[in-house]
Amino acid sequence: MKHALALRDTSPAPARDKVPLFDLSYQAERLGPKLNQRIAQVLQHGRFILGPEVEELEAALARYTGARHVVGVSSGRDALIIALMALGVGAGDAVFVPAFTFSATAGAVVAAGAVPVFTDVDPVTLTMDAEQLERAIKRTLRDSRLRPRAIIPVDLYGLPADYAAIENVATKYGLSIVADAAQSFGARAGSRRVGTLAQISATSFYPTKPLGAFGDGGAIFTDDDQLAQAVREIRSHGTRGSGDVAMRLGLTGRLDTLQAAVLLVGLEVFEERLALCRQIAARYQQAFSGVVKTPPQSALLSSAWALYTIRTPDRDNVRARLAEVGVESGLYYRVPLHRHPAFAGWLTGEEDLPVSERAADEVLSLPLHASLEDGQVDHVIEAVLLAVSS
Ligand SMILES: *Cc1c(COP(=O)(O)O)cnc(C)c1O
Repeated sequence: MKHALALRDTSPAPARDKVPLFDLSYQAERLGPKLNQRIAQVLQHGRFILGPEVEELEAALARYTGARHVVGVSSGRDALIIALMALGVGAGDAVFVPAFTFSATAGAVVAAGAVPVFTDVDPVTLTMDAEQLERAIKRTLRDSRLRPRAIIPVDLYGLPADYAAIENVATKYGLSIVADAAQSFGARAGSRRVGTLAQISATSFYPTKPLGAFGDGGAIFTDDDQLAQAVREIRSHGTRGSGDVAMRLGLTGRLDTLQAAVLLVGLEVFEERLALCRQIAARYQQAFSGVVKTPPQSALLSSAWALYTIRTPDRDNVRARLAEVGVESGLYYRVPLHRHPAFAGWLTGEEDLPVSERAADEVLSLPLHASLEDGQVDHVIEAVLLAVSS
């Protein structure tokens, strides 16, 4: 703590000591020439929509995750919408989503024509609580206007949700599961990778996600042949193959060839980046345990470390103190979904979501990315220890 006290007495750190929450330079720095080459190839063949790189990426992602089918799509949100449409979810259907997640999880449900029903999260993992889920299903069953149809567990911050417990509930009530794996590409539950943990899974390649493109992108994973066929049709206006007849309603939901080319190169260093993130996360865990609530550690689950998020009742003060010494932090999420104006029209009035509300007041995400240098990690650790003790 001697060091920390010294820090307190000095003026704010100079700008060069700034530690950004995200840093996307790793891929470009490590892979510049390869990226240029891949991009140049796309410009040369000119097949910007569903060019050969999309299929090549889908095959590579299938190999990596172990999923039977992978379909590249336009974004994480579109991946969720397309998955729901492929399952036939629509008007009159209730889809259960955690109240503590990014707004796109529930936004996709509304876009598919269904009704999001908010459920509370587990106080330790902050992912969907299976007991609370069952309570919400029972409540919905008493309301004859809505038919429970599907569940969207979210792999928050990169940690897979409790799919075993959620699947028990899903089976009991005959519901489908769509995994929102936007933050968890690369994570595992036991020996199984994200992409194989649910009937159908949706991920995002938004630049700050674990595997990031240079723009928007996403993918859908499933072992189900019929669902995969439906997903392929829906992403391309509902048409089959190169046909021009819409077999079903679809959307403009394809992954760009250029983004597929970028992702193919990014995938080559993905494990290396993940390993660096794991090492930094381990240092944070050791430094912060017993001081603030740290992300849950589990022998079974491995995180993709999309975000490293601590919890402290003194969150706003800690965040301000970190900013003073150049440590950027983030609030994921500051407002639970049932408090978003966009979803006001879908509330039942029976929302009782204390864990989500408390989490929204306490979470603070710290810089965690492969470009962090040891000295920057030291700086973050010292700054957090000082901030929470003052
Ligand atoms: C990022 C994210 C999405 C949406 O992904 P986009 O590619 O930005 O559309 C959906 N759900 C969660 C949990 C996310 O973090």
